[in-house]
Formats: sequence, C-alpha cells, structure tokens
Amino acid sequence: MAGQEPASIRFSGVGQVFETESGPLEALRGVDFTVARHEFVAVLGPSGCGKSTLLRIIAGLIAPTSGTVSVFDVPVTRPRDDIGIVFQKPTLLPWASVEDNVVFPARHKTGRVSRADREKAREILATVGLAGFEKRLPDELSGGMQQRVGIARALLMDPDILLMDEPFSALDALTREEMGFELLRLWEARPKTVLFITHSISEAVLLADRVLVMGARPGTIIDDSPVPLPRPRGIETTKDKVMHDFAGHLRGLLLKRAA
Ligand code: ADP
Ligand code: MG
Repeated sequence: MAGQEPASIRFSGVGQVFETESGPLEALRGVDFTVARHEFVAVLGPSGCGKSTLLRIIAGLIAPTSGTVSVFDVPVTRPRDDIGIVFQKPTLLPWASVEDNVVFPARHKTGRVSRADREKAREILATVGLAGFEKRLPDELSGGMQQRVGIARALLMDPDILLMDEPFSALDALTREEMGFELLRLWEARPKTVLFITHSISEAVLLADRVLVMGARPGTIIDDSPVPLPRPRGIETTKDKVMHDFAGHLRGLLLKRAA
C-alpha cells in the first residue's frame, strides 16, 4: 500500500514438504505472518515443528513447496546480503583467527578484505566484549565467546535482518541470560529486524516484541501475541508479574499442543 513501509518478512500460505526415504514429510502448512521493520519476533515451538525450516526459507537456503516468502516485498529466491544468520553452533573456521572469521562474509561477497572491513570487525568484536581476542583461534575461546564471534560475523555487513536459530541454547544459564541482554543492547543501538528461534519461554518473553508459537506436525502458527512488557528490559524485568503471566499463557499453549 502507498506510503506504508514494506514488511521486513512476509509469509503467505507457506508449506514445506520434504521428500524422505519413508515418503513425503509435511514440515510446514499454511504459514502466514509478517514481521515489521526493526521488530524483534521470537518463535517458540516444540522440537521438529519446523522452526529451522522457516528460518532457512527466509535465508533463501531452501525454497518452500507452496506459498510465497518475501523480504522487503521482494520474493526470496536466493540468499541476500542484507540478512545475517546466527546458528546454534557458531560454525567457525577452526584454523582462522577470530578476526578472520568475522571478516569472512566480506571475503565471501567481494573476494577480498579491505582495511575498513578489518576495522569494522575489530569494532564489532569490541562491542560484543571480545577486544583483545582478535588473533586467537576459536578453540582457545569458551563456548559463549565463540558464540559472540558468530554474532559479530553476522553483524559485519550491518544486515537489516538478523535470523537467529536457538543461538544461546548451548550456553550455561547465566551466560545465556547475559548474552540475551547483550543482544538487546546491540539491537537498541543499531535497530534491526530480528527473528529469534528459541525453546525457552522466558528468553522469548524477555527479548521479543512479539512471540509466535508453533504447533507440531505439520508446523503452523498457533498463536501470535505482542509481549506486554516495556523496554528497556533488564534483570528487574525477570521479576515482573506481567512477565510471569505472559509466560504462563505461552506455556499453556505449548502444553495443550503436547497433550
Ligand atoms: P525444528 O527446528 O523446529 O526442530 P526443523 O525445521 O529442523 O524443526 O524440522 C522440521 C521437520 O522437517 C522435522 O521432522 C525434520 O526431520 C524435517 N526436515 C528438516 N529438514 C529436512 C530435510 N532437508 N529433509 C527431510 N526432512 C527434513
Ligand atoms: Mg531447529
């Protein structure tokens, strides 16, 4: 519509069927939703409900079998440069330094790394708390630090959209909470559209503007609710009764589906 900003991400009637050895597997059915520019949306759902598939479709890594997915009103046909992705495991090159890992998207895109790319990498590494670790190898870092490198790499090209697939699930509870708040600080400083997949109800509620809940097999969106909590959010938010009530609402939906 004229004068309206296009949605960052739009799913219309999306279905995904995988051909497997034991026959077709319907992973997604009739998935419809939009994410506004700079909105932070969490996706919650049981294991195997199609969350990663959803993300891989937006990333242009797989094409849906039915329906359409568009990013800024352009149908997705292949990976875009303005989308950054963070996976559960940071998938770093083990032989390359932290800095070389972070500049990898620039090398991939242009075939070379400029001095400006390196400066940008060092700046982002400092933002995610890794100043001084530029020359280290990934193996020399803790899991949380490696995940920070993965986030820095996804941020290098300053993407407008950040897709995160259970990015903190391999971390211990404290580091995980710390990383969540760090992500919010980054997002508030440099607004982006974020689609954040998680298993954790409290993480979804603490971070997102809106939570989509998926039901299992075939994956569909069974609930789409705004998070009724003000920003900025911090440790005191975790004690808010509203947070607990909203988390209870989500838990009810997930349990009902599992029963
Ligand atoms: P989630 O991330 O919610 O755990 P996935 O999106 O990874 O779920 O998977 C959804 C369903 O699709 C699962 O049953 C999974 O086994 C299946 N699936 C995912 N990718 C493929 C593929 N490339 N080929 C066949 N089946 C797949
Ligand atoms: Mg997954």
